[in-house]
Amino acid sequence: MIADLGPDRNPFGSGPATGLGHAVGVKVLLVEDDRRIAEPLIDGLRSQGHSVKWVTRGADALTDDGDGLVLLDLGLPDIDGTDVCRALRAADAGRPIIVITARGEEDDRVQGLDAGADDYLVKPFGFRELAARMRAVARRTPAETTEAASGARPGEVRPPAVRSLGRLVIDQGAHRVRVDGTEVLLTPKEFQLLAVLAEVPGQVVNRQVVFDAVWDSHTYGHTKTLDVHVASLRRKLGHPEWIETIRNVGLRLGPTA
Ligand code: CA
Repeated sequence: MIADLGPDRNPFGSGPATGLGHAVGVKVLLVEDDRRIAEPLIDGLRSQGHSVKWVTRGADALTDDGDGLVLLDLGLPDIDGTDVCRALRAADAGRPIIVITARGEEDDRVQGLDAGADDYLVKPFGFRELAARMRAVARRTPAETTEAASGARPGEVRPPAVRSLGRLVIDQGAHRVRVDGTEVLLTPKEFQLLAVLAEVPGQVVNRQVVFDAVWDSHTYGHTKTLDVHVASLRRKLGHPEWIETIRNVGLRLGPTA
């Protein structure tokens, strides 16, 4: 939890770098005036392979000519963060923006999202949660860029991505899965688990990465929870061999043809 950091502790700088697909090595513009929050965040992001530019004022964010994902604090010393968000969004409809703020009231969340933020994190938050949200936003970005080019408004609901993998069809927007044309009813967690593996079919995804993408970092009993969901997902799909367990490494969505 970022707010609980003592002066010498940095829980984000250690451990293996985990990431998925598009969120690996992204450019990040961090707009945060509080050094105690910014510094561990920067260390954590860099340890995961991201490049970070840090500014402390809204004006600096608006004059920055870089691109990449924006992590934006709402309580800034010069310009209100929601105004910064609105201006960044107006300048680039496809740019990923995640608001990070101590304001937890519903009104503030709504304001941030209305101002064009893609997602919202309330301090204190776990670094894994941030990483998972960055991955989620990064996954959506290509579609949003395309939509922006065709004139859609920022924040509008996008048409769903339908992923067709042989006999398995995953409809991201509708949260529906079909096997051989027949719908398979999955729980939200089972669906997310499958969606994470289906992002990189044929590739092994580290168990911790899968876990972080599906559950929040405060969930305990990782191994058991993941195994239970993998087992039920295999059973429901009716093809246990599709989801392979690679011992000591992770999970892989194998051939589904
Ligand atoms: Ca602040």
